[in-house]
Amino acid sequence: MSRPQINKPNKNKKSPKSKKFVYEFGKKTDGNTTMRELLGGKGANLAEMASIGLPVPPGFTISTEVCTYYYDHQQRYPAALRQSVESSVTSVEKQLGKKFGGRKNPLLVSVRSGARDSMPGMMDTILNLGLNDDTVEGLADVSNNPRFAWDCYRRFIQMYGGVVMGVTARTEEEEDPFHIILEKLKHSLHIESDNELSTANLQTLVTRYKALIRKRTRSAFPQDVMQQLWGAISAVFGSWRNDRAILYRQEYDIPAEWGTAVNVQAMVFGNAGNDSATGVAFTRDPANGEKMFYGEYLINAQGEDVVAGVRTPNAISMLAKEMPKSFKDLEKVRAKLEKHFKDMQDFEFTIEKKKLFILQTRNGKRTGLAAVRIAVEMQKERLMNVETALLKIPAESIDSLLVPVFDPKALKAATVIATGLPAGPGGATGRIAFTAAQAEKATREGKKVVLCRTETSPDDLKGMLHSQGILTSRGGVSSHAALVARQLGKVCVCGASDIKINYEKKTLTAGKTVLNEGDYISIDGTTGAIYKGMIESTDSEVKRVLEGKLKPSKSYTYELFQTVMKWADKHRSLNIRTNADTPNMASQAVAFGAEGIGLCRTEHMFFEGDRIDYMRQMILAADEVQRRSALKKLLPFQKKDFVGIFKAMNGRPVTIRLLDPPLHEFLPQDDVVRRQLAERLDVPLDFVIDRIKSLHEENPMLGCRGCRLGIIYPEITEMQSRAIFEATAQVLKGKKKIKVKPEIMIPLVGFREELADQLAIVHRVAKEVMKKRKVRFSYLVGTMIEVPRAAITADEIAKEADFFSFGTNDLTQTALGLSRDDMGLFYDEYQRKEIYNKNPFASIDQRGVGKLMEFAVERGRSTKPDLKLGICGEHAGDPNSIDFCHRVGLNYASCSPPRVPIARLAAAQAKLRNS
Ligand code: PEP
Ligand code: MG
Repeated sequence: MSRPQINKPNKNKKSPKSKKFVYEFGKKTDGNTTMRELLGGKGANLAEMASIGLPVPPGFTISTEVCTYYYDHQQRYPAALRQSVESSVTSVEKQLGKKFGGRKNPLLVSVRSGARDSMPGMMDTILNLGLNDDTVEGLADVSNNPRFAWDCYRRFIQMYGGVVMGVTARTEEEEDPFHIILEKLKHSLHIESDNELSTANLQTLVTRYKALIRKRTRSAFPQDVMQQLWGAISAVFGSWRNDRAILYRQEYDIPAEWGTAVNVQAMVFGNAGNDSATGVAFTRDPANGEKMFYGEYLINAQGEDVVAGVRTPNAISMLAKEMPKSFKDLEKVRAKLEKHFKDMQDFEFTIEKKKLFILQTRNGKRTGLAAVRIAVEMQKERLMNVETALLKIPAESIDSLLVPVFDPKALKAATVIATGLPAGPGGATGRIAFTAAQAEKATREGKKVVLCRTETSPDDLKGMLHSQGILTSRGGVSSHAALVARQLGKVCVCGASDIKINYEKKTLTAGKTVLNEGDYISIDGTTGAIYKGMIESTDSEVKRVLEGKLKPSKSYTYELFQTVMKWADKHRSLNIRTNADTPNMASQAVAFGAEGIGLCRTEHMFFEGDRIDYMRQMILAADEVQRRSALKKLLPFQKKDFVGIFKAMNGRPVTIRLLDPPLHEFLPQDDVVRRQLAERLDVPLDFVIDRIKSLHEENPMLGCRGCRLGIIYPEITEMQSRAIFEATAQVLKGKKKIKVKPEIMIPLVGFREELADQLAIVHRVAKEVMKKRKVRFSYLVGTMIEVPRAAITADEIAKEADFFSFGTNDLTQTALGLSRDDMGLFYDEYQRKEIYNKNPFASIDQRGVGKLMEFAVERGRSTKPDLKLGICGEHAGDPNSIDFCHRVGLNYASCSPPRVPIARLAAAQAKLRNS
């Protein structure tokens, strides 16, 4: 930690000297809310609040461009920065009549991060900066409160020591070393609360903290306030690339190039006595979206105490009794903020000696349910129009209206062991994990876990991602645990103070109940109840209404869901289909709003009951005669399945893909099962073993699969086509008039000739069935585009195809030369190094695979302008990929049934965003 490393102007490069790097807010305000890219969300909103007359302590924002510069220039700053920062410090000094580093009336500042999109708790913050052995006395004098001054000083050393000088816990099990010193002192004094520490006790803490820093870093705690300031600025910029910030960015698609801004702001003190307080408030309930003033505060405390969850704060409604005047001021601010920012706000406030200050505001993070409710209700209140309301709902959040909840019957029988604050709705059951690492390990072993911690810190993010739910024994509804859980859409109960967690013994105790790591626990994030053991789940209200098990009028959640879905359907042009292989899946998807089937994987139909035997018989067949005999037995099953699916889809389009996977996937690996198979098929065991051996391939995903199967065994294509057309004829001739126009899809095509070969069979069989069943029907035959050659020769392939469907699972696999099943060994490292921004199998690699898609669209339509185009890889359920598909002009996206509502919303958002 040192003075800033300022770059000498580089003669060869245009110096950024003339650029503005620092923007002030206060009496003079340079920025506004539209400048998020430059000032970060926090900086832009501080500027906006200052300019609409809200009581914001003055300060300045160092822009995100400095962050970019810092990383592009070996962590150095532009030459002009030092002077700008110094002159802005002077400006704040003048506004307040205080002096930074002055003995008399010293100015203290906070230094905080602020990216374009808020990343709560992921980056670093320093409060009370500007205190040293001298200024602490000045603060004691001017406040006439030495205890307060020394409390600020010990807090500052603790924070600065941890964040800037790296004096922190060295393992996950270890406690924060400053916290250990604090607890030791309290223990020796027989006191419970920090508030009981005397001035002398706080002075002792300061001495001990400084000694700890010297011992761990071999350097003294800095006394020069400018040195402190640059140390803090560098730490905040540095925290843009800490592990948790990287993980968070990946989770929320925040590009590394954005960078963070740094906000330096005059401190106001919620810990200046019992007429002072600090808190966090939301203009609506961020857990369920209800329009009520929501939040919490602590008397005589600093902001970090509320967020860090060290003390459990009071609900905001209590403030009306404790500080009625400040509560009224706060309510006015609440109304003004919502009206001005036109969204639910999450704001921080401090009351210093009865005077209210607002320290930040941002669009509040909210659960999926709250996102939907707030958007719908704000539209009704005319705070936003339908288009804005649609864009305000993260598409994924629709999922939280559909996830299972605890079964009411099972709940009645369950034992409540404690209750906490409901902070993330839904029910979660899992095995107890006390550390993030344990949560991750257990999840990788296929177990479901609930992460149980006294409180969480940003380092727990990975563990939280792996857990079904999060339980904490300390901290309120704006604690880190609650905040992050809400955003991740995780079930969360926090501040359950009746629970004692002992990390060493790995126990969780509630009254007489003692649970160990690995035991089952259940938490209800809607009510705050905590249960011993496992609890069965049941379908969500929305799902029950959709399945006709609950009246629509009985569920407000359903009303919200329907409103958003109707809006979405009106605003999208991309059709949403589903990937379904059974009539059941098809019906579920239709209930969720699917407009057709984009992919019916016929191979999934071969695993049920006797079918697998016939399938194996077909694969093991020594010649065509034997193969045809086995296929003949499979035909009625396939036909029946297709009839069921056509009926479930009731006239909607159905795309059926012919057999795709390598045949060995159907054969038994186990010796006993092989023996049984040989007996059932009445062939020698050696024959079975030899045949399985002969089907072995080194790279089966690039081997005999897809259309190659139908080309070498045309009788398979023939049987499948016959089953499809027979089913079509049967449904068309049925009593209930249902339209059927099947779409047959040939997989893994790379050559026009492959498609032509298969087409000939399909057309021949269609003719035969029409003739035999005396019925006419129409149908389409298309292909998947899932190998690069197909994309590159799309103009040729389009001559044969009625439609293309991008199989982006295989297209990603083949374009990246990356097995979809084998990326585990290097994936973590690739993510850590930000080589992959997103898992390319989850979200389309737009710069690579996306280019192939664009090319195929353009080439395909150059041959057939009205060529129908879709996507049926897993990416079709990913909102970012849906946005891409909309932009390149696909007609439909086909995703798994539960993701259909998300896809409908994402498609509407894509259109709104891009038009
Ligand atoms: C694809 O490759 O994207 C696809 C949908 O096919 P499958 O996943 O069945 O290979
Ligand atoms: Mg495929």
